[in-house]
Amino acid sequence: MGESKKHVGVLGLGRMGAALAGALLGAGHDVLVWNRSPLKAGPLLDRGARLAATPAEAASADVVLSCLSTYDSQQPVLAAAAPKVLVNLTSGTPEQARGVAKWAASEGIDYVDGVIMAVPQGIGTPQAQVLYGGSEATFAAHRDVLEVLGRPVFLGEDAGLAALYDLALLGMMWSTMAGYLHALALVGTEGVRPEQFTPMASAWHSAVGGFLPGIGDQVASGDYATDVSALDINAAGLAMLEETSRAQGISTAVPAVLRELFARAVAAGHGSHAIASVIEEIR
Ligand code: NAP
Repeated sequence: MGESKKHVGVLGLGRMGAALAGALLGAGHDVLVWNRSPLKAGPLLDRGARLAATPAEAASADVVLSCLSTYDSQQPVLAAAAPKVLVNLTSGTPEQARGVAKWAASEGIDYVDGVIMAVPQGIGTPQAQVLYGGSEATFAAHRDVLEVLGRPVFLGEDAGLAALYDLALLGMMWSTMAGYLHALALVGTEGVRPEQFTPMASAWHSAVGGFLPGIGDQVASGDYATDVSALDINAAGLAMLEETSRAQGISTAVPAVLRELFARAVAAGHGSHAIASVIEEIR
């Protein structure tokens, strides 16, 4: 790849770190890898990666990506590495990311915090998206490397932003999955099999996704007027879902938390408003 070839260090060769290093090798970069258990580097060495004996050796690269399991496991490795430029791809909280940013600034390390919105098998494909926050100059300087991993999206100079987006998006995913599993359990009480129900659930999920921009507009404007579906009938529906779940002998955990939240919003005077008004009870 000629002049754009870079020396890239990768700290951590778990499922994700190995995928990152593999994509970088595929793009022709010179990849220096380090892992606590060096044997995991084998397949990457076969593809042309070089093995660093220590984190500091890997940190001699132009830019270092770190992808360890947690911030706690990562910090001693980062301290030992002391890279010039660090892109941290370990998942954590915004406060943890800001903590590393503060440490990096005190060490004179250019720092970008990223979160990977993909599974390892998606790395290097157009489906992978990676969110970044922190130093925009550092992001821009190494965008060529980051583009290899997945579509890079820069969110802002706050190093905690990527982790905040990550948790917000994962929260939506977990809520959706929990709702789906509750639905499967509920119809399952009458012998409906997942393969019978899932096509309908999948289409319904897409339709519900279509409501999001409208809900977002209402939250942005604070105008919760609706001629479509008021909160009170939705709150009543949730009470029916909870009652039916109990009657069918399954857990009420998923609907109970939503029923309680919607009921609080109704009690606060939002019964005739749109569902978007529930945000007033969440904030
Ligand atoms: P993983 O397969 O469990 O790998 C964990 C990595 O951390 C390994 O390289 C492991 O080294 C290293 N590690 C753990 N404790 C360590 C310690 N005390 N000192 C040094 N190294 C240590 O995890 P993963 O799936 O690659 O995930 C890595 C990060 O990517 C996580 O923060 C995860 O949330 C994030 N992520 C993962 C996915 C995914 O789908 N997998 C998606 C998005 C984001 P050893 O090999 O020596 O054990």
